[in-house]
Amino acid sequence: MNHATAMAERVLQELSQEPRLARRLLIPQLRWLAADPDEGDAERWGMLEVVARARDEHLATLDADDGLAALGVGWEEIVQRAAQLAEPQRSVTCPRCGARLPRRRRACSRCRLPRPP
Ligand SMILES: [Zn+2]
Repeated sequence: MNHATAMAERVLQELSQEPRLARRLLIPQLRWLAADPDEGDAERWGMLEVVARARDEHLATLDADDGLAALGVGWEEIVQRAAQLAEPQRSVTCPRCGARLPRRRRACSRCRLPRPP
């Protein structure tokens, strides 16, 4: 079983239950974090919490050995997998212009699209 994928699917399931407006914000945030995994942003946007809940739910379905393996998967990997599953073509690119998103930038270097709030 691929733990990262299983947990990413739970993350997407949780995001899909948000109201439409919130979802329109959450998917770009997911995309940004996948391209530039910043723990401060992930925490501020509530994504760490979503990932932690997804991990808890997943762990509840596992035995001890599988549980340990699932605990070893980093939140970055889960977010990256979730972004890929949500939008396979756009996971590491700017949502507006398609440029590859640079690390540690507050905005896209090509079109200046700012990081979501
Ligand atoms: Zn751009």
